[in-house]
Amino acid sequence: MKLLAYADRAVALVNTDDHGTGRDRLQSSDDVYRLLPQGWRVTPTAASAGLDELREARPRLRRVFELAATGRVERATEALNKLLCDFPVSASISDHADGDWHLHLTDEPHGLARSYVTGAAFGLAYTIAERGPDRLGLCEALPCRAVFVDTTTNSSRRYCSDRCATRANVAAYRARKRADVLT
Ligand SMILES: [Zn+2]
Ligand SMILES: [Zn+2]
Repeated sequence: MKLLAYADRAVALVNTDDHGTGRDRLQSSDDVYRLLPQGWRVTPTAASAGLDELREARPRLRRVFELAATGRVERATEALNKLLCDFPVSASISDHADGDWHLHLTDEPHGLARSYVTGAAFGLAYTIAERGPDRLGLCEALPCRAVFVDTTTNSSRRYCSDRCATRANVAAYRARKRADVLT
C-alpha cells in the first residue's frame, strides 16, 4: 500500500458522518464491514467491538481536517500529534511472498478498528509532511462538510465530489443572475 493512500482511510471514516444529509453511516457492525478495507478478516465480534472505537476517533480526525483547511495549522498538528500518540504506528515489511516489498504500518493483533485508525492518522501526518497542510480540505458546497485530500498539482480543489462542484457552480450562476436583475 502506498503511504499517501493511508490518508484515504481518514477521509472514508470522517465522511461516514454526512453533514449534508444528516445521515450517519457508522451505526452498526454492517457499517464497520463496509468501511474496513476488503480482504480484512473481520469477525462479527471484531466488527461490533470496533464500532465504538471508530466512532470515537471520527470527530478527532475531522477536527484535524477542519483546523488544517481553515489555516489553523499549529492546532491541526497538535490534534494530530495527540492521535499519533494514542494510535502509534508499528511498522513491518512484507512482500506477501511475491517479491513486491512494502511497509505495513499497523498491526491487527491490537484490533481492526485500532489498526484502521492508526493508518488513518498516519496518512494525515504523512500527507502534511510530504505535501503540506493545505492538502487537507473541507467541502465548500454547504451544507456538505465532507472532507477530502487535495491531490491536484496546484492545490486547487474546493469540493468533495463532482456532484458538490456542480451544485456550487449552479448556485453561483443563479446568484449572479439575481444580481444582474437587481442592477
Ligand atoms: Zn501488504
Ligand atoms: Zn461536498
